[in-house]
Amino acid sequence: MSAVTQGLHHVTAIGGDPQKNVDFYITGLGLRLVKKTVNFDSPGTYHLYYGDDAGRPGSLMTFFPWQQVPAGRIGAGQSTSTAFSVPAGSLGWWKEHFGAIGIDSTVTTVSSEEERLSLRDPDGLQLDLIASSVSDPRDPWDSASVPAEFAIRGQHSSVLTVKDSSGTSEVLVNELGMKQVWEKGNRTRYAAGDGIAGGIVDVITEPGAREGLSAGGTVHHIAFRVPDIETQDVWRRQLADRGYQVTAILDRQYFTSIYFREPGGVLFEIATDTPGFDIDEPLLELGRSLKLPPWLEPSREAIENAVLPLALPHENNPTVAA
Ligand code: ZN
Repeated sequence: MSAVTQGLHHVTAIGGDPQKNVDFYITGLGLRLVKKTVNFDSPGTYHLYYGDDAGRPGSLMTFFPWQQVPAGRIGAGQSTSTAFSVPAGSLGWWKEHFGAIGIDSTVTTVSSEEERLSLRDPDGLQLDLIASSVSDPRDPWDSASVPAEFAIRGQHSSVLTVKDSSGTSEVLVNELGMKQVWEKGNRTRYAAGDGIAGGIVDVITEPGAREGLSAGGTVHHIAFRVPDIETQDVWRRQLADRGYQVTAILDRQYFTSIYFREPGGVLFEIATDTPGFDIDEPLLELGRSLKLPPWLEPSREAIENAVLPLALPHENNPTVAA
């Protein structure tokens, strides 16, 4: 039997203007910027991490914002929507909130248990807020723009669109240890553990769908949780033995990662819960200054000159004097 994931760790997407990204995800979605660093594989670009107060796995949405990025195309072989969990009865508040900042959103009743508010971020990335009758016990980040009673509890689910779902299903069930929960039309739901928000993947099978194009406003990859590097190493060897082209373990400073592409074309990552985001700055000051891993510190000056300065809304660090 394979290792079993505890659910989603983070989703990483490609954005445009970093300032617009910060403004939308902090004041629009009410998330906290928990790390301002750079893309370790391309250090002239930011890597921005948003999440709950501590950036816990399962709350994280991250971006590579490229100032002049061309628009991508959402389509087959991608994670085509990222859903966050919000309290039941909160969607009316959210719809008004988005209206006030010029973002259109639509409410859909998904089932007797689930209502969905769909919207796009400033770069066209598809997002959903899901209010479920199954309550989500996670504590939200209490921000000035989104009061705690309405705030995002963390990830709810990721939607993958593929032309043929047989290989995708095989990976989710046999390699990641998820269970198939239901199937409705061309949509199949898989869940990790006890199936609560944060551990859900919906797979949409669309044989005629156009291929997605990875650029602005699209998801780059989704990451699943593994507790530690020892378990990750066992998992990596197992994936390699079964013929997946899996990377070596890469040091992402706040976690370690392995990557492989599932047969439907979506890039999967498996990321550790440890060490977490307070490894290089105090919890109360997360996201405040540009953090670099030790191997990029010697290039700090060049990197700081390459990335545009960002104005951070004060609510991101409430204890820091305005
Ligand atoms: Zn990642």
